[in-house]
Amino acid sequence: MNIHEYQAKAVLKEFGVPISRGVPILKASDAEAAAKELGGPLWVVKSQIHAGGRGKGKFKEASAGDKGGVRLAKSIDEVKEFAKQMLGATLVTIQTGAAGKQVNRLYLEDGSDIEKEFYLSLLVDRETSWVSFVVSTEGGMDIEKVAHDTPEKIVTFSVDPATGIMAHHGRTVAQALGLKGNLAKQAEKLVAQLYTAFLAKDMEMLEINPLIISKQGELKCLDAKMSFDSNSLYRHPEIVALRDTTEEDAKEIEASKYDLAYIALDGTIGCMVNGAGLAMATLDIIKLYGESPANFLDVGGGASEEKVTAAFKIITADPNVKGILVNIFGGIMKCDVIARGVIAAVKAVGLQVPLVVRLEGTNVEEGKKIINESGLNVLSANDLDDAAQKIVNAVKGK
Ligand code: GDP
Ligand code: MG
Repeated sequence: MNIHEYQAKAVLKEFGVPISRGVPILKASDAEAAAKELGGPLWVVKSQIHAGGRGKGKFKEASAGDKGGVRLAKSIDEVKEFAKQMLGATLVTIQTGAAGKQVNRLYLEDGSDIEKEFYLSLLVDRETSWVSFVVSTEGGMDIEKVAHDTPEKIVTFSVDPATGIMAHHGRTVAQALGLKGNLAKQAEKLVAQLYTAFLAKDMEMLEINPLIISKQGELKCLDAKMSFDSNSLYRHPEIVALRDTTEEDAKEIEASKYDLAYIALDGTIGCMVNGAGLAMATLDIIKLYGESPANFLDVGGGASEEKVTAAFKIITADPNVKGILVNIFGGIMKCDVIARGVIAAVKAVGLQVPLVVRLEGTNVEEGKKIINESGLNVLSANDLDDAAQKIVNAVKGK
C-alpha cells in the first residue's frame, strides 16, 4: 500500500527524521492561511499523487500552467495562484502513464535553500531477506538512469537483522555522500532513524529523493515515497487510515472486497485462475502465444460461486478485455463445482467476448461435460497449451 508524501513525512517525523514544516491543502481557499502559517519567504507547492517525477511532470489542462507538479512560490499570492491552478488538474509524469492522475491534494512546504541533493532509499532485498540501503550523490534524478549510466555512483549495503543498524552503517552512508564532521554525524543519526521507522512500520520501500544539505548546513528529507507490506497492515490501523482509494485502481479495490488477489495489467485477455503459481504460468503462456494478459487474478483455493461471479464482473467490466481464459485446478474444489460456478457467473454477468475454460483435477470429466452442455458460447480446453492457443486465436478472430 502506498501513501502520499505528506503522510509519509508525518510518519518520519514521529521518528525524529528532519523534514520541512508543511501543511496539507485540500481546497484552494485554504492556501492563503497555510502560506501565512508557514511564513515564507519561500514556499513549495507540491502535488500529492501516488507517483514520482512530479517536478518534471506536465498538467493536461493549459489553465494549470506549465511549471510542473512541484512549484517554488515567492509570495503568498503566488501560492494562492498555484493552488488554484493545480488542484483538480491532471498531472502526467513518467510514473503515471499517459492518462495522468488528478491532483486532489496539495502539500505546502516551507521552502529550503538547497546546497546539495542526494539519493537515499531503503527496501527489502529479496535475495538476502535483509533491509538494504541504496545511496547516491546523484540526488533529485531518476535513480534507474543513474544505475544505468553511472553505476559506480551508487552505494548499497544490507543490514543484518541480528545486529540491527550500527554506527558503521551510518559512517558508510556519510562516506558515500562525502559528508564530514557535523554533517556526517547528522547522516549517522538519520540512517538509524530511517531504519527504525522502516522496521517499526513494516515498510516495503522508503525513498528519499532528494535528501538535501541546506545552505544552513542541515541534512533534510525533501521528498518521501513510502510503501507498506500489505500482509502487515493488520497490525498498523494507523497506516490503513492513510489509504487514499482514489489513487488506486477501482477494479483492484472491488477485488479486495471479495478477497481476490487482483492486479490490473494492460493486455487484452482477462484471466481467472486459482493459485498464484498457476496464475503466473497462465500469464506467461498467453505471452508465449503472442497476446497479453489484462490482469493477474488469483481466486484462491476455495473459490465460492460468489467469488467466481465477482471475479467475472471485475474482468468483464474492463473495456480492454477481448477474451477470457479460466484456468482452474480442482484440488480442494471439485471441477464440477467450479464448472457450475462459471456457468452461473456467465449467466449472471452476460458474456460479450469469447471464453475458454480449462479445468484439471478432481471430477474433471464431469466439469467439462457441464461446460460443453451449458448451451453457452464457452470453449473447453484440454490443457494449458490448448487453452492459451484457443483464447489467443479467438481474440485474434481466427
Ligand atoms: P518529485 O519530482 O515527484 O520527485 O518531487 P520532489 O519532492 O522530489 O521535488 C522535485 C524537485 O523540486 C526536487 O528535486 C527539488 O529540486 C525541488 N524542491 C523540492 N522542495 C524544494 C525546496 O524546499 N526548495 C527548493 N529550492 N527546491 C525544492
Ligand atoms: Mg523526488
